[in-house]
Amino acid sequence: MSTFLPILNEVEKASIHERQPLPAAYLGLPDDEMALRIEAARAALGERLVILGHHYQRDEVIRFADYTGDSFKLAGAIANHPRADYIVFCGVHFMAESADILARPHQRVILPDLAAGCSMADMAPADQLEICWNELRQMGIAERTVPVTYINSAAAIKSLVGQNGGTVCTSSNAGATLKWGWQQKEKILFLPDQHLGRNTAYKMGVSLDRMVVWDPHEPFGGLTRDQLDQARLILWKGHCSVHVRFTAKQIDQVRREHPGIKVIVHPEVPFDVLQAADDSGSTEHILNTVRNSPAGSTWAVGTEVHLVHRLAEEVAPGKTVVSLDQFGCLCSTMFRVSPNHLLWVLDSLVDGDVVNEIVVPEEQKKWAKIALDRMLSIQ
Ligand code: SF4
Repeated sequence: MSTFLPILNEVEKASIHERQPLPAAYLGLPDDEMALRIEAARAALGERLVILGHHYQRDEVIRFADYTGDSFKLAGAIANHPRADYIVFCGVHFMAESADILARPHQRVILPDLAAGCSMADMAPADQLEICWNELRQMGIAERTVPVTYINSAAAIKSLVGQNGGTVCTSSNAGATLKWGWQQKEKILFLPDQHLGRNTAYKMGVSLDRMVVWDPHEPFGGLTRDQLDQARLILWKGHCSVHVRFTAKQIDQVRREHPGIKVIVHPEVPFDVLQAADDSGSTEHILNTVRNSPAGSTWAVGTEVHLVHRLAEEVAPGKTVVSLDQFGCLCSTMFRVSPNHLLWVLDSLVDGDVVNEIVVPEEQKKWAKIALDRMLSIQ
């Protein structure tokens, strides 16, 4: 039987979100000057460079991306550029780590601002998963359980999951992944987002009383042997701080204000919100559904505000798109990647200097790659 090993040392933990200060020369630059200089650096680097941009990035950054998409789509795009030397990932830390795991040995992955982390990924540190798995083993549950982690998790978590026969999933393939998981074992441990796990399993017909929430701050997750015995799905107590801001009350309000409006949300929202919506799915699903809806449609969209605003502009004037949250839900860590940071890392590359490189330790890479390769094969 495999065991979880402590493979993230204290130095690695401390360095994960250590921020490199932006050099003073890159502060306060006019937008048009930055745009010209970014284009010039891209041209100088040519095919040696690929820029990936997550949908939640701000407009001033995403306009320079060679590929835009969700985590799943961007992870797949890396394979299209085997000869590129540099992959600049305009997203957050766990995405750049996944890129480093999937990249060829000669490829170097750069995150424009190292402080661009993810609060959800931070809710599942490797040492807590290790404790969880050991406690599940003590109760005789681990051997009946396959671990599955959402891609929004640290490389150390993906590695631990891969080491124990599990896989990574995204919001695009969460349903197919749970189906795969239950073909392997009787139970699934799903982390770090309890909402994605619960919403996906419920959609597949699993009742709420067959799901339990593992609180990593409580001994044995705060659960009894009996509760774990009954459960088909063990949900890690984690969430996305952006998507839990959406409420069922907002849906009532938007329906009152816009009769006939359709509501579509990301599955990281709480259960009651998803139940009150008309549709749900990954960012790619949201984009495709709204784009392909009939002219004259009105949509309230429950996901990060940059995606919602771009979608609204793209489909106007034929269709109307509003944010489900009137104040707009912004991912503040995604927002840390600025055009100033992008220009700085590109200028550095032109000068032959790699700054803000993300390097996953080799011992994590091996198992994390196995878990990520499983993810890419499960559709
Ligand atoms: S939107 Fe939520 S899950 Fe996505 S990067 Fe931001 S905090 Fe993390």
